[in-house]
Amino acid sequence: MTQPDFRQEAETLFDEMVAMRRDFHRHPELGFQETRTSRIVAERLNELGLEVQPGIGQTGVVGLLEGAKPGPTILLRFDMDALPIQEETSHNFTSQNTGVMHACGHDGHTSMGLTVAKIMAQHQERMAGTLKFMFQPAEEGLGGAFAMIAGGVLENPKPDAALAMHVWTPEPYGKVRVVEGPCMASSSVFTITVQGKGGHGAAPHMAIDPILTGAHIVTALQSIVSRNVNPQDSVVVSIGQFDAGTTFNVIPDRAILKGTVRSYNDALHRQAYRRILEMAKNMGEAFHCQVNMETIAIVSAVVNAPAPTAVVRDAVIKIMGEESIVEHRTMASEDMGYVLEEIPGCYFFIGAGNDDEFSYPHHHPKFNFDERAMINGVAIMAEAAASYVLNDE
Ligand SMILES: [Zn+2]
Ligand SMILES: [Zn+2]
Repeated sequence: MTQPDFRQEAETLFDEMVAMRRDFHRHPELGFQETRTSRIVAERLNELGLEVQPGIGQTGVVGLLEGAKPGPTILLRFDMDALPIQEETSHNFTSQNTGVMHACGHDGHTSMGLTVAKIMAQHQERMAGTLKFMFQPAEEGLGGAFAMIAGGVLENPKPDAALAMHVWTPEPYGKVRVVEGPCMASSSVFTITVQGKGGHGAAPHMAIDPILTGAHIVTALQSIVSRNVNPQDSVVVSIGQFDAGTTFNVIPDRAILKGTVRSYNDALHRQAYRRILEMAKNMGEAFHCQVNMETIAIVSAVVNAPAPTAVVRDAVIKIMGEESIVEHRTMASEDMGYVLEEIPGCYFFIGAGNDDEFSYPHHHPKFNFDERAMINGVAIMAEAAASYVLNDE
């Protein structure tokens, strides 16, 4: 039997996929609030004849596409949530929800997932095995993958491999990032509270200044990467928020610092974290402040297993040619890491940027991506899935 031409099948569905993506873009929903999105996803999967389980991990949806013959179960994961950002684009499908925007491309992922489901449903009779579609809520730091795992997405049937992708504007359209081993960093988010003693700005000797202490802490933390980490390894320590004070001449009683640690290696991550705690505590002591540190969330590194990565590479070569492959990692993070801790898999990035219109980074209020990238992503995903479940004798 002839093998399907997945690029051509994806091209045929392009207009429909763009219409879906723009509809999701107009109606973005924050993590665990994706009720409209997940209702549409469940309806579409139902229409395609999949066995649909809504409400997995609150607003997550699981769809099972079972082949006529037995075979492996392959998990295909797509995230659905938007971000608390006020959109500043000028295209005609801008967000209708004030302060909420699909600024990471998950609108595209949801449409791509539904398109892959539609394509593979057309080959269901020939399939040996099961495709398990995981439409995930709350990827943006809210623990959606974890919620779906707790809801049983990795059981009954347990997947043999897991695939996921991201449209990626830092990479130009026409390229695909796929790399074996770690491809995204582990990430933790922490809050440091520096408690001093408030007072008059004109009498600093009567107060204990948490701003000065906080500033020393921020400065000291910069030495962790430069002086504690092996130069051959990668760690990031960033403070993204420093809140203190209300006006010119009042020393506040408290400063709050928020930051993140990123690494490809869990031991290094813990080491950096320990140093942050030591420095913050000791700096606090030196300046007579009370320092407390809290970790809010830890996400594991996204680590690609050799076999599924080879499958994805072959799919990329077949769909787009070997010259499209870029081996590059990022210090961004993703909760797909939780899934890949349990199931061997591959996470890859579909180049979707260019020099002008699509040059904004993810999470920017003007973010947009080249929609043609969705054809590449769908075709690669379908091709990779097919190499597990469409092996004609
Ligand atoms: Zn994002
Ligand atoms: Zn994202």
